Amino acid sequence: MNRIAIYPGSFDPPTRGHEDLIRRALGMFDQLIVAVAINPNKEPLFSVDERLAMLRTAFDGNPRIEFASFSGLLADFARARQSTIVLRGLRAVSDFEYEFQMAMMNRRLHGELETVFLVPAVDLTYLSSSLIREAARFGANVDGLVHPAVADALRRKFPQ
Ligand code: ADP
Repeated sequence: MNRIAIYPGSFDPPTRGHEDLIRRALGMFDQLIVAVAINPNKEPLFSVDERLAMLRTAFDGNPRIEFASFSGLLADFARARQSTIVLRGLRAVSDFEYEFQMAMMNRRLHGELETVFLVPAVDLTYLSSSLIREAARFGANVDGLVHPAVADALRRKFPQ
């Protein structure tokens, strides 16, 4: 059985937390589709293409990972890709309510869709893309919290 999981998210930008989750998921699933969600309600820092390029650089050539983008409902994307597994991360209790709502709504929209939650390494639990964006905007050094290619891209966005 070929288990294909979809890991949807904004990845604006990808962090070491996202990378940690992807590595853990590769131990559980045969194929992973890392899917950048195009959200019309969000004004992203990085374009979809920039986010996909950063993700590809971090996982250079791993044949078990595919990078894609999607707009509209995750349930429809999952159906189109013949996947019934959604991967999401839980960092803290504060993530739970939103993630729980999403999982329930997705199941309502696609009865076979299961959401699997993974927790990252403990030293990555506080990391979020928004924290990285804010820190980088004001010139903080984010090396070690993101892939070097992401750190370079942030320096280009926010020249000090
Ligand atoms: P979204 O806008 O869909 O929440 P994100 O890119 O912020 O997109 O997050 C995508 C998924 O990755 C979410 O399930 C989030 O909880 C998880 N995630 C983000 N950062 C981390 C981290 N440091 N550790 C574990 N999971 C994380």
